[in-house]
Amino acid sequence: MKQLDEDLQQDFRGEIRYQEPMSAHTSWKLGGLAEYFLIPQNREDLQRALRIIERHQVPWLVVGNGSNLLVADQGIKGVVIQLKNLTRIDLLPEGRVEVEAGVSLAKLVVTCCRAGLGGLEELSGIPGLVGGALLMNAGALDTEIGDLVQQVYLTDGHGEWSLHREQIDFGYRHSGLKGKGVISCASLKLHPCDQGTLAKKQQQALARRKKVQKVKGAHAGSVFKNPPGKKAWELIDKVGFRGRRQGHAQVSPDHCNHIVNLGQAKASEVMALIKEIQAAVAAEYAIRLELEVQLAGWEAGDTDD
Ligand SMILES: Cc1cc2nc3c(=O)[nH]c(=O)nc-3n(C[C@H](O)[C@H](O)[C@H](O)COP(=O)(O)OP(=O)(O)OC[C@H]3O[C@@H](n4cnc5c(N)ncnc54)[C@H](O)[C@@H]3O)c2cc1C
Repeated sequence: MKQLDEDLQQDFRGEIRYQEPMSAHTSWKLGGLAEYFLIPQNREDLQRALRIIERHQVPWLVVGNGSNLLVADQGIKGVVIQLKNLTRIDLLPEGRVEVEAGVSLAKLVVTCCRAGLGGLEELSGIPGLVGGALLMNAGALDTEIGDLVQQVYLTDGHGEWSLHREQIDFGYRHSGLKGKGVISCASLKLHPCDQGTLAKKQQQALARRKKVQKVKGAHAGSVFKNPPGKKAWELIDKVGFRGRRQGHAQVSPDHCNHIVNLGQAKASEVMALIKEIQAAVAAEYAIRLELEVQLAGWEAGDTDD
């Protein structure tokens, strides 16, 4: 790692942090230390970092806002990259929007609605950055971000390239972008719409969210995907897990598909609840609940996914 460090010090222009607590970068407020935590200045700098990382064959992971991420207590070996400096939004002719991956989804929604560009308003209130939203194909009500994508730009140590929507395989909380490189930018196609109407739809989406998602405490939204034709929360409720605890982690009494960190929870306690829920639902209904949250830093065998 000494040589990696020297190369980063020499060529990388952004911020380098060592032994960075991932609990500061996840909505669950959980997870151990990232050996290296890099915040590139811009897309060129991201590419420089990836070139160095690839040369040294060090494992890496990119994080957005950590609002869908369960990081292991033992932390993350290698490099974590955070894109909070990639914040450009360009409103182009004919409803096209180019947005960098570090822009918060909330800011993108508000900017487009104020500009009279419709399509994103139902995503109001989803936490996270654009890169994470694309990777997860974040969605709410009748909209998924993948529906609006024209192209996604990806970066690795060799450069930047793009994929068209048809090449990406967007699905329910899924995209074919996983493992393809770092999402650095996307081009979206929106439609012209009256600003007042968009503002109203945004307010409605936020009000609905406030009513439905009353969960208190640190969490990461839905832990499991809904199986076809079923609601994960209902299955979890029926097997008796509402309010169930493992140490300081608890299945939310307000929404059974959310696991809350009561303050001092360990990631291993959240994982223990996940495994118990999966086993109970499989035993009772022969349904395997698939994780929606993404895992980082776990060893093979720590998890069943
Ligand atoms: C209160 C709450 C409510 C939520 N409501 C919803 C909802 O209604 N609908 C919904 O879909 N989700 C919801 N979520 C989940 C979460 O907000 C979304 O999945 C969000 O899009 C994740 O974005 P993020 O930036 O936080 O990604 P992270 O959690 O940081 O990362 C998620 C995954 O994306 C990868 N990733 C992140 N950025 C990049 C990048 N630039 N390039 C490549 N890979 C990348 C990470 O490695 C990880 O695998 C909710 C979460 C919370 C806490």
